[in-house]
Amino acid sequence: KPRIFSGIQPSGGLTLGNYLGALKRFVEKQDEGIETIYCLVDLHAITVWQDPDKLRQQTREGAAAFIAAGIDPARSILFNQSQVTAHAELGWIFNCVARMGWMGRMTQWKDKAGKHAEAASLGLFAYPSLMAADIMAYHATMVPVGEDQKQHLELTRDIAIKFNNDFKVDFFPVVEPIIEGAATRVMSLRDGTKKMSKSDPSDQSRINLTDDADQIAAKIRKAKTDPEPLPETVDGLKDRPEARNLVNIYAALAGHTVDQVIGDFAGAQFGTFKPALADLAVAKLSPITTEMNRLMKDPAEIDRILGKGAERAEAIARPIVDQVYDILGMIRSR
Ligand code: ATP
Ligand code: MG
Repeated sequence: KPRIFSGIQPSGGLTLGNYLGALKRFVEKQDEGIETIYCLVDLHAITVWQDPDKLRQQTREGAAAFIAAGIDPARSILFNQSQVTAHAELGWIFNCVARMGWMGRMTQWKDKAGKHAEAASLGLFAYPSLMAADIMAYHATMVPVGEDQKQHLELTRDIAIKFNNDFKVDFFPVVEPIIEGAATRVMSLRDGTKKMSKSDPSDQSRINLTDDADQIAAKIRKAKTDPEPLPETVDGLKDRPEARNLVNIYAALAGHTVDQVIGDFAGAQFGTFKPALADLAVAKLSPITTEMNRLMKDPAEIDRILGKGAERAEAIARPIVDQVYDILGMIRSR
């Protein structure tokens, strides 16, 4: 029986990229009736320093975003990672299975550590190993993510295969990334070659799920573009990363194909296209923002939902991680 796991870091407020690349997909999978486990991965977030009060706030806000977007805590399991210790336990074990060289090749590591790898946290280096643990602790086989996480999922597969080989077991399953839709890689509004990220220092680079209609409209109006009108065919977007990004966002929000959007706006100036995109973004996002704000008025209720989700997650992960200890030859006698 297929089981889906995925997570989002409470390392900032959620962005349009997180929504289109991840959250929207999470809801679709839940609504298809697949068993879905979704996590605010707070242990991942602290791979770069987080202010404790903000981390708490961002975790609750993330949970509110999940629910506002359509995650039903009765149908999906929704929790924060650190409440289920199986993640950290299996993460450590995978640190001992994975190889340094594998981690060193990860583009997220190279991007985030930059030129100062020796000053980055050890946790940031081991990030994919904990991510593999998140998934494998549930024997999940399907993981909806944005394009940027594809490499980490390939590594998850490698870790699972090496574990099975090292201990001559057929224990961990093979995972499949689910990367689908028109916006699997939403780009920064300031730089069409950079991914939109919640941790980008520039707030102008992204649309936050907490932005109001005026902020959304202003950010789209100021979004970087070239001076040409939109092309007549999709091919014409090839060397125009900023234009392509805005068209992809439009398509994803409207639920249209990129072809349809180009058909509708062929030859249009950005002076026409941008306001249309802003209106669409506001129409799609503002109900979510409103619901998030309502949920955020009762943080105790959010904490209760996360606690309940963690109990259900624990019930699945505990026996799996206990079996791992047994496979490793570790005595469990209490
Ligand atoms: P950070 O900058 O802290 O890494 P982030 O915005 O990259 O934050 P993550 O928590 O790392 O968000 O990723 C959560 C999910 O959102 C992942 O599935 C990831 O692939 C997806 N995602 C992140 N950014 C984008 C984007 N720009 N376009 C599409 N999907 C994205
Ligand atoms: Mg990220």
